[in-house]
Order: sequence, then structure tokens, then C-alpha cells
Amino acid sequence: MIINIKPHEREIFRTIGDTAAKLGYPAYVIGGFVRDRLLARSSKDIDIVCIGDGIKLAEQLSYKLRPIPRIAIYKRFGTAMLKFKDLEIEFVGARKESYHFDSRKPAVEEGSLEDDQNRRDFTINALAISLNEEDFGHIVDPFNGLIHLEQKLLKTPLEPGKTFSDDPLRMLRAIRFSAQLGFSIDPETYAAIGRNRNRIKIISAERISSELQKILASPQPSAGFIKLFETGLLSIIFPELYALHGVEIKNGVGHKDNFYHTLEVVDNVSKDTDNIWLRWAALLHDIAKPPTKKFDEQIGWTFHGHEVLGAVMVPRIFKMLRLPLDHKMKYVQKLVRLHLRPIGLTKEEITDSAVRRLLFEAGEDIDDLMLLCKADITSKNTDKKTRYRENYAKLKSKIEELEERDKLRNWQPPITGEIIMKTFNIGPSKEVGVIKTAIREAILDGIIGNNFEEAEALMYAEASKLGMKKKEG
Ligand code: ATP
Ligand code: MG
Repeated sequence: MIINIKPHEREIFRTIGDTAAKLGYPAYVIGGFVRDRLLARSSKDIDIVCIGDGIKLAEQLSYKLRPIPRIAIYKRFGTAMLKFKDLEIEFVGARKESYHFDSRKPAVEEGSLEDDQNRRDFTINALAISLNEEDFGHIVDPFNGLIHLEQKLLKTPLEPGKTFSDDPLRMLRAIRFSAQLGFSIDPETYAAIGRNRNRIKIISAERISSELQKILASPQPSAGFIKLFETGLLSIIFPELYALHGVEIKNGVGHKDNFYHTLEVVDNVSKDTDNIWLRWAALLHDIAKPPTKKFDEQIGWTFHGHEVLGAVMVPRIFKMLRLPLDHKMKYVQKLVRLHLRPIGLTKEEITDSAVRRLLFEAGEDIDDLMLLCKADITSKNTDKKTRYRENYAKLKSKIEELEERDKLRNWQPPITGEIIMKTFNIGPSKEVGVIKTAIREAILDGIIGNNFEEAEALMYAEASKLGMKKKEG
């Protein structure tokens, strides 16, 4: 395997090696950086482990660099971090760890390189590159990490049950790496995740959320979510998503498995976008199907109102998963709430006013909503699929045509509340709202044109209905 290290990285590695030698410390690059470079992935974080004092090594190194970088020292962890050009380099002394059952924070003592490699989560994350004079650039690979990289395999260095019980976050990391890198998980390692699934409860919601984000950001997120499901982790960390699984049959009528459907939608949308929040919208678009499910003797299974209840559930889920409760959440909510609208339209005539309304409600997120809807077409029935696709294309061109005509994205009616208040010399009041709404609705319905003159005329007409007169002078 070829390791591709850039010239400025080689230069700093030499300097680190020389500095460490003067202190009498053997030093190595270890972990993620080595793995990523062997896989030709980019990475800016470099971890250096030395047999000695990591903070001292960082300090001594900093004097040799120009300009002298500032170092952040974390005494409690015995680590130091400095930035050099585009790199973030972290220094630590090699350590040996022992765990207590209640915590993923180990007791730590000084150790050898081997001790330090033993405490790593996967064989491919335990690879080290020597920075020492006698074997500079040599790869230290005690657990066949190089072979596992070739085999695209995730495997723990030690007995997997112990590795996962010590720090249950590693179970999520296994699944996350497998999704990110397209690797499989060694069967014994995988089985140990299932056995230790309940240990995940000692992991903080923030850490769980950060791994979920990485799974969702991976090229084919379903690969990760299916593993979360199979190992039993999903039902613990994300019960609402787990609840989508399964098919109920009544009078011989079933419905689709909404878990696998959702994952298909997520994969579909992921082919079109890296926008993580659009991916979240796909993951949550049918989240309220279980609580809205009913069986109707005439029409079979229904999920009426799942888009509305789904939007209501979004804040709770974001809170539980420590996701941001800001405009990103609002965006996800909006897409969940509107996800049926485009396809709903295509069933009947796609009237101008229906499309205008959709454009007005979706605003600048209309393109994302359309991507979500396209991704949501997963029917196995090819006739149905073709029909949906054709309708979708029709709607899309209609949107473009109307937008060109009306410029409805980010649209605001030509008469504002300000104008109404000035014209009639009144303050903020119910009347202002009534007139504004009447104008907006008339434009959206195509009763009047989207221009100032017609809107102004309607303003006067509506005002006179309310007994209001124009300000004199
Ligand atoms: P990424 O940066 O993509 O999250 P990474 O493997 O580089 O992946 P880091 O959190 O940067 O992960 O950690 C760097 C290295 O530290 C890892 O490669 C691994 O060797 C080790 N490591 C990190 N977290 C753990 C853990 N929970 N258990 C054991 N070793 C870990
Ligand atoms: Mg890293």
C-alpha cells in the first residue's frame, strides 16, 4: 500500500521526529490520519503519540516552527494541540487504559506504543507511522490493519465484547465507519455490538447525535441505518425511527414497510444532495406514520395527517438528538409538512393557483421540496412509478413557467402593511391584516394580477368594505 504524504507534512514529521529524539522520546503518527492517507482520503487532523510527555514535545516543537505557533494545552488529558499551516496536530504520551463499568472515561497510565495501539477501537485505526531516525516512515501494524484496509474490514484489535463494553461509543463508530468508508464489519465484531447494545445508554446524546450525523452524511446512509436496526441500537437511540419498521396485515391487506421505504428515500435524495438537513427531512418525512396509522374497511391502510403530525414531532426529535433548534429545524419541519403537496397536486389538474400557493408556501425551499418528492417516488409498481415521474416532470415545468411569469420565489405581495397604514393613517391593527390577506389570496388565486396597480385598487375596495377612507392631503 502506498502512503501519500505531502511535502509539507513530511517536513513537519521530520521536525517532530528530530525534536522527539532530542527529548529521548520515540514518536509516531497514529490513528485516523494514517488510515485516511492509506485510503487516499483527505484529513487535516494529525495525532502524534510519543513515549514520553506529549505536552513537552509540543512545546519544544513550537520553538522550531516559523511563525511560532500557539499551543493549546489540556493538562487534565495530558495533551497539547498546535496548528501548523493547514494542519491541526495533537500530541499525547502513549497510554494504557482501564475502564470502569459506569463510564467510558478510563483511568489512564503511561504505557508503550503497543499499549496505546491496544486501546484503539479498530485495527485500521491502530496503524502508526514511525517518525524515528532508524525507521522513519515505517508502518507499525500489530493487528493486520493493512490487510483489513485492503479487505475493507472493520475489526477490533482485542476481544470485541471487551472493546465495546469499555467504551460503547465504539459500536456507533463501527457502524459509522462502515457507512463512511463502505467497509463491512467482521462477523464477531458485529455480533458483539448486538450483545452490548444496551451499554449505549451510558453515551451522551451529543456523541450519539454526532455519529448519526456522520452516518446520514455518508454516500449511502441506508447501509448505516440498517446496521443500527439489525444490532438493536436503533430502538434504543431513536425509537421513533425504529417504529417505522414492519408491515401489518388486515383482511389480507398490507402496507409498505415504512422503515425501508424511508431509507430508500434517504438514499435517493443523497444521490442529489449533500445538504444534511434535506437528508434529515427525508429521514423524518414519514416519521408520524406509526401514530397516524388506521385501517379503513373501504380503502385499507391510511396515514391521514402524518405530514402535519410529523412536522409537530420534528422539534421533539431534534431536542432528543441535540440537533440545532433553529432555522435548520424549521426548514426540516417545513419540508416534512409539505412533502405530500407536490404529488398531491399532480393527481388532479395542476392549476395555476395551486402551484402559486405551493410556491408561496415553500418559498426559497421549493427546489429542495421537489428533490424530496422525487426521492419519495419508490413504488415497486412500474406503471405507477412512470405515472408519478411524468406528473412530477409536468409539475416541475409548470413551476418554472409560473415562476418566470410571477417571480413567486421569495415573493411578497406588492402592497405591504406599511403602505396600508400610511394610506389610511392607521396603526397596526386587525384591518391591516384583513386587507393584506385579501390582496395576497386574490393574487395567489389569479383573480388579480401580481402588480402594484391591481393590488392598490383591491386595497381601496377592501378598505371601503371596512368603512375606511384614504387619508386626506
Ligand atoms: P474521524 O476524525 O473521522 O471522526 P478518527 O478515527 O480520526 O475519525 P478521531 O476521533 O479523530 O477519529 O480519533 C483519532 C483516533 O483516536 C482514532 O483513529 C482511533 O485510533 C482513536 N480513537 C478515537 N475514538 C476512540 C474510541 N472511542 N475508542 C478507541 N479509540 C478511539
Ligand atoms: Mg480524526
